[in-house]
Amino acid sequence: MKGKPLAQRIRAEVAEEVRTLGTVGLVTVLVGDDPASEIYIRLKQKAATEAGMTAKDLRLPSDISEDELLAKVTELGADDAVDGMLVQLPLPDHLDEARILRAVPPVKDVDGLHPFNAGQLFLGRPTLVGATPVGVMALLAEHGVELDGATAVMIGRSDIVGKPMTHLLMQANATVTLCHSHTRDLAQHTLEADVLVVATGVPALVSPDMVKTGAVVVDVGMNRTEAGLVGDVDPGASEVASLITPVPGGVGPMTIACLLQNTVRCARFRCGSPAFPGDSVLRFARSAAPERAENL
Ligand code: NAP
Repeated sequence: MKGKPLAQRIRAEVAEEVRTLGTVGLVTVLVGDDPASEIYIRLKQKAATEAGMTAKDLRLPSDISEDELLAKVTELGADDAVDGMLVQLPLPDHLDEARILRAVPPVKDVDGLHPFNAGQLFLGRPTLVGATPVGVMALLAEHGVELDGATAVMIGRSDIVGKPMTHLLMQANATVTLCHSHTRDLAQHTLEADVLVVATGVPALVSPDMVKTGAVVVDVGMNRTEAGLVGDVDPGASEVASLITPVPGGVGPMTIACLLQNTVRCARFRCGSPAFPGDSVLRFARSAAPERAENL
């Protein structure tokens, strides 16, 4: 399941929508100089610019205080030229990520990490959902993978991938098992999986003998090793799986494309045109959330 062809199609559609909308603004906020985060930000900025968006790349020093960062994020959130925004994670240890993410207005929260959007997903009424899980679902749909009634196993429970992925799979009527670093006998679970999604950051955690014959495998992992960029699944699993995503070139391009798609949704919402199934609740969020977010 190569990600590039579908990602290119989505990016072309996004570029067309940007032309129709006039201007679409995306801001990324990077605190510090983590090399992996720098690469992600560069890719996101480049893609947004290529789609015709106004992309702003805000870099802040790693020793910025929490209050200063909060003020910056709040200022960007109030800026009408900003349709979508994200704060690249992880933040340096002295900063409270949850507090910073709550300052991103839910209507501009392209990573879907504000409690409002995360809560909507939890309740089965998704509004803005992070680009990686959305991209994985799009890839599975593109390849006609049947999720209704399937046994799905998610390895990894991060806020950005594992948890939202689990909800989307469940909402597609799969029977979902969520595994993590405390799971006993991982293989016992993975061998049951019709659909296996892996996001752990552990190179080759899943070996070919942990994959059920004919399973669909999605490798979200992107690990920089001496051997280059590798996933969380041993590439030998392609001998056992019916479909598998490559690394690189699988989920990565989908994440970028779906980030742009989320940004266009935010812009459509600003313009008052239908953008989400959850439009009406987002309208509520726009009026209620910013001034209350600090007290959550
Ligand atoms: P994360 O926040 O570090 O979470 C990793 C998860 O994996 C945790 O839930 C952890 O369990 C679990 N885990 C770690 N070791 C494990 C083991 N031995 N067995 C079972 N579970 C284990 O990572 P993330 O942000 O989700 O990212 C995961 C990977 O995906 C990374 O390689 C990252 O670079 C990649 N990624 C790729 C994209 C893309 O666009 N392709 C996007 C995002 C992330 P505990 O909760 O118990 O600690």
